[in-house]
Amino acid sequence: MFDGGLYVFLLRLKSASTITVGALGEQFFPPGWYMYTGSAKKNLQKRVERHWSVKAKRRWHFDHLSTALDSEPVGAIVVPDGAGITECELNRKIGALVGNGVPVPKFGASDCKAGCPAHLYFSGAPVSLLGLAQVHEKAAILMPGADLWEPNLQELGGSDNNSD
Ligand SMILES: [Zn+2]
Repeated sequence: MFDGGLYVFLLRLKSASTITVGALGEQFFPPGWYMYTGSAKKNLQKRVERHWSVKAKRRWHFDHLSTALDSEPVGAIVVPDGAGITECELNRKIGALVGNGVPVPKFGASDCKAGCPAHLYFSGAPVSLLGLAQVHEKAAILMPGADLWEPNLQELGGSDNNSD
């Protein structure tokens, strides 16, 4: 397992919830799928695992959502350092993939200098980790209680180069 890198955490909120998100105050979250993009300079896997612990101390905006009563972690995709993509680039690719739904402007983006609308995107329709992993060839998948999974996306994508 690599040490530092980027991650996109996928969470399902099972019912509409009003949650107080630190300095952003009370916010309304419709039921659906939420994707939060972040990074860790080291211990990336630990950072991700922290997000599926309901006992996490509320340090980041996302902690308020991940510890909400009706939230359920699905897992995360991780991209190692040196993969040639920045946190904000990854964030926007995820946004474009799921329709650019921004539930709370500036959520998770306090430190963002690239002008992202938020580092949290929303989709009312189901989103899968495998679908998210399509955004980068080096993306791997982490799920609670499972080993890191590095899908061969080219094979899964079914793009065959038969040219006979
Ligand atoms: Zn950003």
